[in-house]
Amino acid sequence: MDVAATIKKFGLEQAFNYLYKDPEKNLRKLMDWADKFAGGEFAPQRKAIREAITNPDHPYYSYIRRLVTEVDPNVMKTLAVNLFINASLAGWSRQEECRKKYDCNIPWTILLDPTSACNLHCTGCWAAEYGNKLNLTYDEIDDIIRQGKELGVYMYIYTGGEPLVRKKDLIRLCEKHSDCVFLCFTNATLIDEDFANEMLRVGNFVPAISLEGFEEATDGRRGSGVYQKVTKAMELLRSKKLVYGISSCYTSANYESITSEEYYDSLIRMGAYFIWYFHYMPVGNDAAPELLPTPEQRKGTYERIRHFRATKPLFAMDFQNDAEYVGGCIAGGHRYLHINANGDVDPCVFIHYSDSNIREKSLLEALQSPMMMAYHRGQPFNENMLRPCPMLENPQRLRAMVASAGAHSTDLQSPESAEHLCSKCDLYAANWAPVAEELWKENRAAKAKEA
Ligand code: SF4
Repeated sequence: MDVAATIKKFGLEQAFNYLYKDPEKNLRKLMDWADKFAGGEFAPQRKAIREAITNPDHPYYSYIRRLVTEVDPNVMKTLAVNLFINASLAGWSRQEECRKKYDCNIPWTILLDPTSACNLHCTGCWAAEYGNKLNLTYDEIDDIIRQGKELGVYMYIYTGGEPLVRKKDLIRLCEKHSDCVFLCFTNATLIDEDFANEMLRVGNFVPAISLEGFEEATDGRRGSGVYQKVTKAMELLRSKKLVYGISSCYTSANYESITSEEYYDSLIRMGAYFIWYFHYMPVGNDAAPELLPTPEQRKGTYERIRHFRATKPLFAMDFQNDAEYVGGCIAGGHRYLHINANGDVDPCVFIHYSDSNIREKSLLEALQSPMMMAYHRGQPFNENMLRPCPMLENPQRLRAMVASAGAHSTDLQSPESAEHLCSKCDLYAANWAPVAEELWKENRAAKAKEA
């Protein structure tokens, strides 16, 4: 880490020590200092944070106080330093350097599947059938992180399979790479007291718990009794003062319930700090395209999530409709890539076409491979940020990239051709386009008014 980042890390740690002495008084004081030292920089952001800190009617007024008083101070400090100083400040400048030097995408985060195994048998999920056949070894994951850090990557996200089947290895990796943040998509049923204590000890592990909605929807897909186990894990994490969030996929069947006020309020009550929404993707030979939301359903989802983001103390990200904040599609190493349990380096967690395997190529070589370079050259895939995806909203782009790169399907269970996948998106893309154009015009007009 460079000298400036070390000084900022020390400054941030000191600021936290000061804050914890008297949170209510010192929150405002810290904001005064930030204003004084910012020298005119980040004025709109500082104004928004001040409003959230000082206005009791602001939705983030209670959220910020929860972070300060209901999260273990060491966890809070570790996450803040690793996320803001290592992953964002020092990491970002190293990534920029490497982007220029190697003339390819360099990611901000890497998604990894430690295992194909899972302890549940969810409807429509390949992992249950696939079982414990594929794993990245501890040394392989360690080496991916080592290579990632050389490129400035300090944020790692586990998917699967169920990553917590490998919880001992994951904790060892947290210890070894104590300067990184590890986010983990999990069904939460393997979170117990011992594991929560380990999370407290390392301080840099954050679960994102998968929920389909309320009890009926969750148990309907994941099995009877799973919802109760998940809510028990949420309660345990809350009582241990740990940070966790939720991951929910919206479909034509559940979009209303998982974007309802009742759902938000229940998650806030149970101590969640964030929710990541994913749009259903018709990936795989057994996908169910009828679960794709209609244009009206997607528009309603977009509006509700934005409404609650501005009114509820729960930070919500909508992976498919928030591309405007990250400049479009973030895959192909632009901001992230995905490595499956077989070592295949996929451009995206939903796009299983690759020409590289981490057992045969370095991370940098994979980023310079034809498939990743096709992403690099093609991004953004659409000027309309509500149509970011080369598969879902621009399927002709994915067909062309897979063909030009000669990439093969890396689907672990049933390889699917790009033509088969993209043909499920053609009608969706055509129907969504006019609605997205209208919505994007409104979005731009509202932003212009705010400016
Ligand atoms: S490929 Fe599609 S789903 Fe993946 S990050 Fe890009 S826009 Fe999102």
